[in-house]
Amino acid sequence: MTIQILLVEDERSIAEIVQFALAGEGFQTTWRSLTGEAEAELSAKPYDLVVLDIGLPDGSGLELLKRLRRGSEVPVVILSARDAELDRVLGLELGADDFIGKPFSPRELAARVKAVLKRAKRSPAPEIAPAHDARSGGWFQLDEPRASIRFRGRPLALTRYEYLLLKTLLEQPERVFSRAQLMDGAWPDPAASFERSVDTHIKTLRAKLREIDPSVDPIRTHRGLGYSLRITDPA
Ligand code: CA
Repeated sequence: MTIQILLVEDERSIAEIVQFALAGEGFQTTWRSLTGEAEAELSAKPYDLVVLDIGLPDGSGLELLKRLRRGSEVPVVILSARDAELDRVLGLELGADDFIGKPFSPRELAARVKAVLKRAKRSPAPEIAPAHDARSGGWFQLDEPRASIRFRGRPLALTRYEYLLLKTLLEQPERVFSRAQLMDGAWPDPAASFERSVDTHIKTLRAKLREIDPSVDPIRTHRGLGYSLRITDPA
């Protein structure tokens, strides 16, 4: 499968260099110039790696990285016009995998990206830990390092928001969460919460669970209160 890379960069000339360098390695690059567009892209489909500029018109790449790391371990290579020590330290502290100062050569960029991809592939596959109770297991398995959840043994293809929503429910099965509490868990960035309603994502999440096993409906609606998650058959 072709390696998919998301490039977040607002300068066309630099974006072209990056795309050229990555195409030379046979990688497929999707180019976005705003943090908002990049987040929409990342929640819509999985990427193997993100090349992220710091200075973007609608915000900082570092802020984007911070939000991203709450729910994703996708490798991130930071590009910065200011090769400042502070940016580098902050970027790596926030969970970036590498840091490249501008200007850079296409060859250098390609080599760094390849090294990060190789590292990501080599790091041992994390054990899939039962989400709640190791004794009972339950229907769900949360694999936090990979930001993925299995239901009845099968991986769910979740968007970032569906993942965060289900993870929040899963951390406290049977607890009734209000919509506001679910929003806090899944939408740490309040600015993003306006357009995305909990109900919409619950609906798509239910459809995905139903696809795997139509005989159970783990998400329960509590009228006027919110939602809770059942992880096993009632005793
Ligand atoms: Ca820039």
